[in-house]
Amino acid sequence: MPVERRYPFSWRLLGDIPLGRPNLGVNTRLEVYRLMQFALRDVLERQVGIEQTDRIFYEAGYFAGNEFYRHFIGEVKDFHEFIRQAQIALRDMGIGILRVEKADLEQSKFILTVGEDLECSGMPELNYEVCVYDEGFIAALMESFSGNKFKVKEVDCWCTGERVCRFSAELEK
Ligand SMILES: [Zn+2]
Repeated sequence: MPVERRYPFSWRLLGDIPLGRPNLGVNTRLEVYRLMQFALRDVLERQVGIEQTDRIFYEAGYFAGNEFYRHFIGEVKDFHEFIRQAQIALRDMGIGILRVEKADLEQSKFILTVGEDLECSGMPELNYEVCVYDEGFIAALMESFSGNKFKVKEVDCWCTGERVCRFSAELEK
């Protein structure tokens, strides 16, 4: 039986913001974004547990990353162009400052960092990486560019004492 849907995603769903917010515009306070993230996470953790919550956040990030790529990046020729476009888009949207720390194009193994990350920069140290949504998001960007499935794992985070989020990305085998 098909699942009943109320909000299958489309960019139209986000609305005409200049029309709707002639005075307040497109910006909001980051606290409000994080409030929603952590409220959602809190409710989900209590209802479905930590692991399933992480899975949902990863999937949501992955979904968003695919849409983001199509909407803001699109066709690019090579890896450097892809990274340049992604850097501009992530910066313009206030998501973070993307850098490539290591790129092994032959093995398709990468280490990427995101500075001033939207999700976690400035958070208290928690001894575990928090940016599961970002993992999914970056996996989708890598996959959209390359056409191959990528496994992305956050290896350092503001929450583990680093001052950037660091992600390993490699081809899924
Ligand atoms: Zn992080």
